[in-house]
Amino acid sequence: MNCDELLAALNEYVDGTLEPGVSGDLQRHLSGCNPCQVVVDNIRQTITVYRHGQAVEIPAACRERLHAALRERWKQTHPANA
Ligand SMILES: [Zn+2]
Repeated sequence: MNCDELLAALNEYVDGTLEPGVSGDLQRHLSGCNPCQVVVDNIRQTITVYRHGQAVEIPAACRERLHAALRERWKQTHPANA
């Protein structure tokens, strides 16, 4: 898995459609890629905040905002790929 593939997997994670088998690849990439760790930490906090206010389901509008936040964070941590 490279950084682009991790970004795609994170989008699925936000949507709740990430396949269980992918998370192992995701963890392996994260263990060796600091910029991606920063992105994941940021997204985890965002998801926790939304879940706190919105019970379990993340509404589509919030998912869009999460995707936008993810892209912004990605540009900050991966300037070469922006
Ligand atoms: Zn990476």
